[in-house]
Amino acid sequence: MATEDTHPLDFGDDPLRLGVRPAPGEVWLVGAGPGDAGLVTIRGWSAILAADVVVHDRLGCEEILARLPGHIRRVNVGKLPGERAMTQERIHAILVEEARSGARVVRLKGGDPFVFGRGSEEVAHLRALSIPVRIVPGVTSAIAAPGAVGVPVTHRAVARSFVVCTGRDEQGKLPTGIAADTHLYLMGIEALPEIVASLLAAGRSPETPVVIVANASTYRQFHLRATLATAERAVRSAGIQPPAVVLIGETAGESVAPHLVGNPGAVLVTGSRIPAAIEQRAPGAPLLWRPLFAARFRRDSAPSGDLPASLATGAWTVFHGVPSVEGWLHELQRAGLDLRQVRCRLAAVGAEAARTLERWHLRPDVVWAADDAAAMCASVAGQPTWLATESGYRGALLRRLEEAGAAPATLLPVHDWEPLDPGPVEWRHVASVTLTSPRSLRRFPEAFPDAPLARLTALCVGNDLMTRAREMGFGQVVALE
Ligand code: SAH
Repeated sequence: MATEDTHPLDFGDDPLRLGVRPAPGEVWLVGAGPGDAGLVTIRGWSAILAADVVVHDRLGCEEILARLPGHIRRVNVGKLPGERAMTQERIHAILVEEARSGARVVRLKGGDPFVFGRGSEEVAHLRALSIPVRIVPGVTSAIAAPGAVGVPVTHRAVARSFVVCTGRDEQGKLPTGIAADTHLYLMGIEALPEIVASLLAAGRSPETPVVIVANASTYRQFHLRATLATAERAVRSAGIQPPAVVLIGETAGESVAPHLVGNPGAVLVTGSRIPAAIEQRAPGAPLLWRPLFAARFRRDSAPSGDLPASLATGAWTVFHGVPSVEGWLHELQRAGLDLRQVRCRLAAVGAEAARTLERWHLRPDVVWAADDAAAMCASVAGQPTWLATESGYRGALLRRLEEAGAAPATLLPVHDWEPLDPGPVEWRHVASVTLTSPRSLRRFPEAFPDAPLARLTALCVGNDLMTRAREMGFGQVVALE
């Protein structure tokens, strides 16, 4: 049964031993990958979720931080736009202090910790002080960024070697005189004129294809294709800013994944879960997960005295979301009950609630669409009905059940919603937003006062939300389920 606030990546049970976690006083350098939270290794996520503190960069870490449980402390040692970076000595001091205080420390570094990230210096410093360190490699942006737009770094016919360079070394100089079929530059946007000049001087043709990918695998991903001759102008006119990877070589002309050629707008997900239906509505679009609320199990108040009656033969319990199922299971456990006492009939509103019940081997007797009053009538008329949901629920569903003839329809509080601060969003990269509950729809204008509604598509669950999204001023409104 669900016993804690469950994280979707809970490695509590790790039968395959893929996880392994840092011990108190250890520092683990974990590769955060290029930005997509799914591009962190399983061991990386396992270490992150077991950490007491995550000492993180800015690059590559944003989406992971958005998914961190609230009890894990965060220390930002990354450079903010327009600010100076923290000195390496200061970062060392923080890691030492945290480890010596007995914390399980994850040092989260963009991409792979050992590619241009000064990870080796951090390891050397900690080892010199006998602080245990482990390395969890990451997906480097050098390869993942071109890959995100379908450009390989090698190709049997045209590229049998690649080299990864920095746009500037310690002295601010560009490494030159390296021969490889594919040249990849990190931190290469500022140095692009020198990069182009050095490759032309080395005899590469001005027609050599170039691809430049900024913010790869994040919702801000943007790329352009050019040639050595046109790259500088193209970057200037598109206004490309770091972080970006520059790939120069024949593979940049390969279109191995033509569906990745455009720059699709991102989907902002405001709910506590990422709905499965997004893949059909916006296939392959980058996701930006900024939940406006987190579901919390109830701990401080006693389980509802109604619980036994709601489970009795002849009663209905209605669920309208994942937290309502998981919170209800948690309440059963708190009340000393288990699935053997569940004699009532079960109704799921929406596919996600139905799937969650089934995951716990509870087959819903009916699955209703969000506002299918007729179906509700046919089921609950004359029956006592409980709605398992948040404490203090004020949505329309209870009234609907009563109108459908439930006798009576009663609230069964099984969880709470804690409001979250979604932080700033760069709207020019966003094409649509999901609105999957009245609660997130209501909070949307306050949480995102600068959202350009007229330009955005709202992906809504149910007719009520669609109507309200239209009234709010969304340019387009589309059904999500
Ligand atoms: N250790 C990192 C690199 C750190 S240096 C890695 O393995 O990826 C920082 C540079 O990495 C940036 O200037 C940029 O060139 C590149 N970079 C990091 N994340 C990126 C991303 N999501 N998209 C494009 N380039 C990225």
